[in-house]
Amino acid sequence: MSTFVIVGGGLAGAKTVEALRDQGHDGDLVLIGDEQLPPYERPPLSKSYLAGDSPFDDAVVHPEDWYAEQNVDLRLGTRVTALRPADHVVEVGGDELHYDKLLLATGSQPRHLPGDDDLLHFRRRGDSEAVRDRFGQGRMVIVGGGWIGLEVAATARGAGTEVTVLEAAELPLLSALGPELAQDFAALHRDHDVDLRLGVKVDELRKDGVRLADGTTIDAATVLVAVGARPDTDLAESAGLAVDNGVVTDERLRTSDPDVYAAGDVASSHNPLLGHHLRVEHWANALNGGPAAAAAYRATGRTPAPHPVLSPAFDVPHLHRIVFRDHPVEVQPVDRARVQDPAYRSQRAEAARFNLNWLSATGTAILLAALALRLGGGYAGVRREPSHG
Ligand SMILES: Cc1cc2nc3c(=O)[nH]c(=O)nc-3n(C[C@H](O)[C@H](O)[C@H](O)COP(=O)(O)OP(=O)(O)OC[C@H]3O[C@@H](n4cnc5c(N)ncnc54)[C@H](O)[C@@H]3O)c2cc1C
Repeated sequence: MSTFVIVGGGLAGAKTVEALRDQGHDGDLVLIGDEQLPPYERPPLSKSYLAGDSPFDDAVVHPEDWYAEQNVDLRLGTRVTALRPADHVVEVGGDELHYDKLLLATGSQPRHLPGDDDLLHFRRRGDSEAVRDRFGQGRMVIVGGGWIGLEVAATARGAGTEVTVLEAAELPLLSALGPELAQDFAALHRDHDVDLRLGVKVDELRKDGVRLADGTTIDAATVLVAVGARPDTDLAESAGLAVDNGVVTDERLRTSDPDVYAAGDVASSHNPLLGHHLRVEHWANALNGGPAAAAAYRATGRTPAPHPVLSPAFDVPHLHRIVFRDHPVEVQPVDRARVQDPAYRSQRAEAARFNLNWLSATGTAILLAALALRLGGGYAGVRREPSHG
């Protein structure tokens, strides 16, 4: 009987074991994760869970006993320290575990800045709780005006905490959303008394404050570093798999080793629509990537469909919500199937500044990215030039 080992107990890992069982895989299944918790979804960590509005259980993909019911060997708090593809073996705490097929779903790790070792970062449940514990304790300085930095800023303001956000670019979220929408986000945060400093460079990070390159110092009770994430490719690299901004896979999520797949944040997968590789740090990519790898494995010898979310996912978020208590902001993917429908488009046009020019220019070719941003009552649009199409 064949053994399928999944390394990484996040959403992609959990959805892979679920899909394998759903698709009839009756061989051994081992899911190994180095966190003590069963796989959970991270988006609430910077939103409802951080605000204390939802219990942690809401974020858990399946309760722990579900894995036993599915006959999945779930190994929590366990780190895979080496992968030896030639031997079909992973090393786990001094032991060797044989696999026939393996999926790498090791996700991402927070990026670091020089001197930030003792400071807070934001990836896991414990990080969210540590940040929440700091609410109301004095000024929180957040280095990085990306999604996580802005979400934490909004939630911290909701809890009455003074917040400074330091962003190196001219606008927050500029590279993700483009200037029009980035301006909306900057205004939104400033309207809520976030001290947003743009185009600044951090020279020194301390637990009690930050010094900027222009000599300005900002005192802080808490410093959070939220400057993005890097794919956790350590295992793949030392195993000699092809790695290039993520573990390189084909469109069916097979790596350079025929018996090893990769999915979720860690995978840089060939996108047949774009004609190049793409790594996507999104909830939906983790949700669908694992099942796509499972389907590719189950279809061995036949031709499975390529990974389904690669074409629409692009690099726009699916779930992000910046929640000021009085002012929820939703960012939603536009319904791509309906963008050619005049009624849908006029409904969006009515709803405010949704940019129909961009949609009509590309909607007939390949619509890669379009979002509707709900700002209070109305929608704003985001434009993002596609790479191709
Ligand atoms: C605070 C936060 C908010 C987010 N909000 C949104 C959002 O609103 N919308 C959206 O689309 N996306 C959001 N994301 C991104 C989304 O959560 C990720 O894309 C998703 O978690 C990726 O899932 P994954 O399973 O690939 O990896 P991960 O969730 O990173 O899970 C990988 C797991 O593997 C473990 N691991 C790594 N190496 C090993 C090893 N050698 N041995 C054992 N275990 C190992 C890791 O510790 C981790 O538990 C957010 C992310 C964060 C951190």
